[in-house]
Amino acid sequence: MCSVTHLAVGGVLGGWAGNSGVAFFLGIVSHVVMDAVPHYDTRDFRVDVALTAAGFLAVLGLGYWNSPVFWGAVGAVLPDVENLLWRLGAIRESWRIFPSHTRLIRHGKPLTARGAIPQVFLILGSIAGLVPLGG
Ligand SMILES: [Zn+2]
Repeated sequence: MCSVTHLAVGGVLGGWAGNSGVAFFLGIVSHVVMDAVPHYDTRDFRVDVALTAAGFLAVLGLGYWNSPVFWGAVGAVLPDVENLLWRLGAIRESWRIFPSHTRLIRHGKPLTARGAIPQVFLILGSIAGLVPLGG
């Protein structure tokens, strides 16, 4: 799943959790669940990095710094840092440890670019879910 989608879902789960520690944990758990669903991953990881950075800036800009929303988003995105390091050539693929990346836990079938459409709806739905929470 694209990191920006993890960020959006983790953020809204964190907001619902209302506690930063629980939010962080839910973010990580949501990453496993979302990776197990058949999904589209961007071919150019730099696009996902840029979108994820923009998402974090939006979270901060909306006043969620150090809130459950922020920590849910961090927990949801954190596992993909190893994918970024691997794609940058900083670590070997075999050094990755997150269970849905090592295939210890099932990873969803890759989809074509049309598979990005459900992720767009997930992101929009997450944004809609954050609005009532307030910043
Ligand atoms: Zn992942």
